[in-house]
Amino acid sequence: MTELDQIHNFIDGEFVRPGSGSYLENIEPATGRAYSLVPDSDSRDVESAVTAAEIAFPSWAHTPAADRSRILLRIADLIDRDLEKFARAESIDTGKPLSLARSLDIPRASSNFRFFATAILHTENQAHVMDGIAFNYTLRQPRGIVGLISPWNLPLYLLSWKIAPAIAVGNTAVAKPSELTPMTAFLLCEICREAGLPKGVLNIVHGTGPNVGAAITAHPRIGTISFTGGTVTGRKVAEAGASLFKKISLELGGKNPNIIFADADLDAAIAGSVRSSFANQGQVCLCGSRVFVERPKYDEFVRRFVERVGQLKQGDPLEPTTDQGAIVSKTQLDKVKFYVDLAREEGGAIAVGGIVPEPPNERCRDGYFFPPTVITGLPVACRVNREEIFGPVVTITPFESEEEVIRYANDVEYGLSSSIWTLNLNRAHRVAEQIHTGTVWVNCWLVRDLRVPFGGMKQSGVGREGGEEALRFFTEPKNVCIART
Ligand code: NDP
Repeated sequence: MTELDQIHNFIDGEFVRPGSGSYLENIEPATGRAYSLVPDSDSRDVESAVTAAEIAFPSWAHTPAADRSRILLRIADLIDRDLEKFARAESIDTGKPLSLARSLDIPRASSNFRFFATAILHTENQAHVMDGIAFNYTLRQPRGIVGLISPWNLPLYLLSWKIAPAIAVGNTAVAKPSELTPMTAFLLCEICREAGLPKGVLNIVHGTGPNVGAAITAHPRIGTISFTGGTVTGRKVAEAGASLFKKISLELGGKNPNIIFADADLDAAIAGSVRSSFANQGQVCLCGSRVFVERPKYDEFVRRFVERVGQLKQGDPLEPTTDQGAIVSKTQLDKVKFYVDLAREEGGAIAVGGIVPEPPNERCRDGYFFPPTVITGLPVACRVNREEIFGPVVTITPFESEEEVIRYANDVEYGLSSSIWTLNLNRAHRVAEQIHTGTVWVNCWLVRDLRVPFGGMKQSGVGREGGEEALRFFTEPKNVCIART
């Protein structure tokens, strides 16, 4: 391992070693081998980052929006310039196909910066006039130091979705990417320096959730936390922040229904469902892991869906023709295998997939691969149909009526997203109204307009990200009341 392979923390505009002096191995999922070292930081590093963010805050908060905007636009341009470098790093770090990182993850990261860089130029302040008495206006001011914690599935995409609005409105940030996928956050720091982001505005501390994530959520001078990750971790974050009255946004897990009515355009529904089931090896919080098909089209859907899934090419993520790459870690692979075994015990039939495949090539001999897996015949209320697997596994269940499928869709603890496939517009409106998810897609999946509110209901989260919602979350409204004399 050479010095070049070491990832560093980014604190006060400098690349620094962790206080502990220790590093963790960063594994490439496609090969199962360590390829770089990530700082094993702790509360000392978080403390340094908070100090840097605190010193940087007054000046950054008073930097005119137009100047902040220019810097964020430069960051976006530099990400675009380095698209190939970022995409390759993301693919190696996560196991996702290079083609996906190139077409989805990295372009979305630069869009995030561009979107919020321009959004802050078009904000309005509210005013409330009390006839003859007073005039109120609302200031929206940055909240100070914000803590940003993100997961491993869409590393730069999700971290930049937090960093961009947080710093655009004048906050300074202490961010922690997942220790499993730290590389693109590290590369982003180089770009922030090149773009002229003042030191201390963005600080990135690498390390484990218990050491770094917990230190961020418990830090008394970090008053705002934006967290994306699993529901169990989200609960810990909420508990840590509650006694300190932190403002917290939680984007958590999902068990999303994907509903195909008999009147749907079946070609579109099948193509869309293959994507929504297996994009990024099923490791997208929005993946539709529970497919429901109206009885008259059930057999045809299953036959054609399984045929299409069988054509997905699993392989080395760096190969251009690969559709399905590796699972992010051995732990996650074991979790997927556990649930497929459980599905068998619960009475499910494996229509395709279900067993660990031969490695795609010599380089990937020890990689973490699992094939796209389709399970039929499971009861709606079994564990496999209720618990988040977060891997390339979907179940397909028939239904008889609209009322029945709405009941099935809502009968889980999660409420993140759903898809409905139908050509009946009235039905689409009716079902969308009754489904308990923060996002409902009709005849599509993962169509994302960055202006819309994004988030989950029930155990899928608290609060919304995106557009105006993010600008509001990261600012403090203050009313100024001026008496009329
Ligand atoms: P985790 O909850 O395990 O981790 C998320 C982040 O939290 C990581 O950076 C992790 O660090 C950190 N963390 C772990 N423990 C703590 C702690 N005690 N305090 C503070 N931070 C901590 O989620 P995964 O990384 O496994 O991601 C998968 C999950 O994320 C799935 O449930 C998925 O549905 C959800 N997700 C939700 C999205 C949404 O928008 N709703 C989008 C994408 C994913 P480390 O990993 O380094 O230990």
